[in-house]
Amino acid sequence: MHLRERFGPLLAQRRQADLFRRVPLVTTPPGTHIQLNGKTLINFAANDYLGLSEDPAIRRAVCAAQDAAFGSGAAHLISGHHLHHHLLEDALADWLGVERVLVFSTGYMANLAVQQALMQRGDTLIHDKLNHASLLDGARLAEATLKRYPHRDMTVLQKRLHTATGQAMIVTDGVFSMDGDLAPLPEIMALKTQHGAWLLVDDAHALGVLGATGRGSFEHFGLNADEDTLRVGTLGKAFGVFGAFVAGSQVAIDALINLARPWIYTTALPPANALAARVALEKVQKADAARAHLQALVHHFRTGAAEIGLTLWASETPIQPVILGEATTAVAWSRALFEHGFHVPAIRPPTVPQGSARLRITFSARHTLEDVERLLAALATLQKHHDAES
Ligand SMILES: *Cc1c(COP(=O)(O)O)cnc(C)c1O
Repeated sequence: MHLRERFGPLLAQRRQADLFRRVPLVTTPPGTHIQLNGKTLINFAANDYLGLSEDPAIRRAVCAAQDAAFGSGAAHLISGHHLHHHLLEDALADWLGVERVLVFSTGYMANLAVQQALMQRGDTLIHDKLNHASLLDGARLAEATLKRYPHRDMTVLQKRLHTATGQAMIVTDGVFSMDGDLAPLPEIMALKTQHGAWLLVDDAHALGVLGATGRGSFEHFGLNADEDTLRVGTLGKAFGVFGAFVAGSQVAIDALINLARPWIYTTALPPANALAARVALEKVQKADAARAHLQALVHHFRTGAAEIGLTLWASETPIQPVILGEATTAVAWSRALFEHGFHVPAIRPPTVPQGSARLRITFSARHTLEDVERLLAALATLQKHHDAES
């Protein structure tokens, strides 16, 4: 069989159902105003919540540092672990108040690593059903049994903990990436303690954004992560650069260093990148005004969207989905917004469950209230058309 015989029909069918994926081409620096597929747009699609991807101080610091190369030369355990990685790990550990931090090349790989390294055959991984795809792939790489519970359903989580075999680990997004809502961490922590489970929280969309000082979902709820809790953070979102990390106890990080295949068998993040992330961390720590502005944008959007009659999700974060149902509708709205001068991607199955295709709108502290006003005006036009047709 040739490749085209298998994938020709499959891809044709995807095209027909508006499920075919294309890569949009950006020809300007990243930011809130970009040129994409040749058109100038206001970008409501990035996870660059604090606008740091455009930050000139980060660029200057990297250019000025003679010892911050763009290649690390080897894996961490061989000769790739540079002083800049070490300094970044220490700075992140101090910031989060944990014993140790381990830097990864991507959040995807960090999520592959933790479950594979810490969980053994006969153990039980218990996931929220809407967890990020990388967490699910991490469960696949681990030898433990995977169980899931309906989104944020603590009753079913408790049942799963009761029937778990071996060591149990609860795995959840802190902020759900396609929904913007929060995991009920106080309840999860209580169940975790009650059942002697371990906990992995993927705080990719919370770090830098949530909590009075941006320390993420634990700070948001006034909680401390204990010794059996690990947090994954990415540096490609609110930090505006690239890379990721796992934060936890000394013993947890030592276990990762010794057992985590997605960390051991890969080239270390470039030292220049680690330096960029450390400068970004300083910016994140000083970003109280940006976080307040971000909250104001979210509030402004939600008030305006409710007035238009859009179906909003219970999200207080800069991830604001507008649920439209069918993939064809979501794609039509995304295309219409493109014509109006906005980049708002349609998120379709299998990234989200069938029947819940949506627009995923994200805000950056570099957006203005006026940007949001303009988006709301375009959405109001689309909603009117939609009402007239149905
Ligand atoms: C983006 C994302 C990741 C992956 O992080 P990368 O550094 O981009 O690989 C992991 N988890 C969640 C929830 C994410 O949104």
